[in-house]
Amino acid sequence: MRASVVRIEDKLYQNRYLVDAGRPHIKVRQHQSPSPNLLALTVVCPANCYQVNEDGQVEVTADGCMECGTCRVLCEESGDIDWSYPRGGFGVLFKFG
Ligand code: SF4
Repeated sequence: MRASVVRIEDKLYQNRYLVDAGRPHIKVRQHQSPSPNLLALTVVCPANCYQVNEDGQVEVTADGCMECGTCRVLCEESGDIDWSYPRGGFGVLFKFG
């Protein structure tokens, strides 16, 4: 018997996210060129919140963040990002997933 495959995109679709407009809970510190840690974020974030923009800089779109803390741990020493939990009532809602 073959196990069914669950795609991460399908699981993420089950979540809901309440955006705190104008108050992102994650910010990437300004940089000319991305550090190895910043580039790693474009790969390790399970919600795909980090992208390299057309200027070659890493930017974050925190909408959809699952608050797993991976990026926070990865950049704890380097200080490449500022990370905090969303304000109460905002952010991810897991109850649908
Ligand atoms: S906390 Fe997790 S889901 Fe949110 S941006 Fe960081 S790595 Fe992505």
